[in-house]
Amino acid sequence: MSFNGNIEEYKGVWVVAEVSEGRSTQTSEELMTPARQLAGELGQPVCAVILAGSGDDTSSAEAAFGRLGAEKIYTVKHDLLGQYQPQLYTKALGDLIQQQKPNVVLFGATSVARDYAPRVAIRTGGGLITNAGELKLENGILKAIKGVLAESLLADVSVANTRPQMALVRGRTYEKPSESGGSANVETVTPDLTPDLAKSKLLEVQQTDTGKKKLEDAEVIVSGGRGLQGPENFKLVEELASTLGAAVGASRAVVDAGWRPHAEQVGQTGKTVTPTVYFALGISGAIQHQVGMRTSRTIIAINRDAEAPIFKIADFGIVGDVFEVVPVLTQVLKEQNLASV
Ligand code: FAD
Repeated sequence: MSFNGNIEEYKGVWVVAEVSEGRSTQTSEELMTPARQLAGELGQPVCAVILAGSGDDTSSAEAAFGRLGAEKIYTVKHDLLGQYQPQLYTKALGDLIQQQKPNVVLFGATSVARDYAPRVAIRTGGGLITNAGELKLENGILKAIKGVLAESLLADVSVANTRPQMALVRGRTYEKPSESGGSANVETVTPDLTPDLAKSKLLEVQQTDTGKKKLEDAEVIVSGGRGLQGPENFKLVEELASTLGAAVGASRAVVDAGWRPHAEQVGQTGKTVTPTVYFALGISGAIQHQVGMRTSRTIIAINRDAEAPIFKIADFGIVGDVFEVVPVLTQVLKEQNLASV
């Protein structure tokens, strides 16, 4: 559907909140920082939207968004929204957008939002900026900094001639804002949904969580590559990770070799991560790996080849053998009692 509305009618900055086990996620809460900045400059309200099942308790997430500065919260509840289903989520949010006409809609770039935000854009005639970094306004138009051409260039991207202006914002682009102590006006919305709208059905949820830290949420990631020379040597990676309270990541070479699960793969065909510190151990730094981790705040690489491409993007590099350097590093960190960074 193309946009044929009146741009002037679209007001307000929305954050689409994800709720997990009754609590709003860190990625959603971070979005309140740009939402407040943009809304302040535009002189428009900040709203949050929560999609949930009829019986789900959303009170904690509503309170959190109120404290973080949302003036209004639309809690969209329906029996059919208890589990994510793309067509139902798209219709529920799309209908609300068409009724309320927000100017800006921000999603965290999670796997669920990446799946249905483009569908919402098509349904509403809005424009969507994917994989967005920092956001700003220029003459009232939303602009996002976005890596293009396999992240080799940064571009300013906008969707100027359409509304709402939507963006899927990468996790950890922003810090969560300080709490304003306020509370939001909560409006419960019942969407018009029927089971036949769904084109797929959830049959079973298989829990693969092994109790380890999730890559996407980790402040520190220790990743290993083919330089580890075998799956048994990943204990070096795991030990350093556990000393730092970090998550374990991997290059595709070792995932393809069956040394590590795909859930740990970082890169173009794996996960995009933006931790505070990223360790690359025995990873060459191919462009397909870099696109998943190059926006990490600090990159520390250990590789015995001084010409390895990873050193071009590393903040700190050690040219050396992982089997010599990593045990010493882990030992020193343990002795200094740096249990977490
Ligand atoms: P290698 O390139 O083999 O590098 C191993 C490194 O270890 C070398 O730099 C070597 O100097 C170093 N080394 C060896 N021994 C030691 C030692 N003892 N001590 C220290 N250093 C040592 N890759 C990804 O990672 N993620 C992706 O999502 C991804 N998607 C892809 C998608 C496509 C379409 C394609 C074509 C490729 C993709 N790749 C991806 C693969 C990518 O091109 C590389 O092949 C891969 O990243 C290489 O993994 P690696 O660095 O572990 O292995």
